[in-house]
Amino acid sequence: MTGDDARSSNEELQFDRVVSNAPARDATGAPVVTCVSCKRTIDSSYFHVNGRVTCASCRGAIESAVATPTDLGSFLQSLALGILAAIAGAILYFSILFYAHIQLSLLTIALGYMVGWAIAWGNGNRGVLR
Ligand SMILES: [Zn+2]
Repeated sequence: MTGDDARSSNEELQFDRVVSNAPARDATGAPVVTCVSCKRTIDSSYFHVNGRVTCASCRGAIESAVATPTDLGSFLQSLALGILAAIAGAILYFSILFYAHIQLSLLTIALGYMVGWAIAWGNGNRGVLR
């Protein structure tokens, strides 16, 4: 018995109302498609973003929000934050080495993540793997 079989056996069957996955229709019988983001009716063409129907303007807004930044300001901000994180990590690493006389090689992995996180943060987390 699969999970679907168990779930379907627990649900009671109802015959009072129709549950349909088909799109709604207007007065002329044409299907009505609405944008998930802005809730407006889409007249001509629509797009799927992560499996959800969106209009052209919402698609453009979503694309620009997740696009990798290519401007010099974002690059310099990411570079500066990455360098600051690397300097802070070096200070932390050599402080532990100097005062505790412990060479924590595994700490360098965490410091690498810290630098990567700072660079992504400088970009506003755009253009990074999620
Ligand atoms: Zn929309």
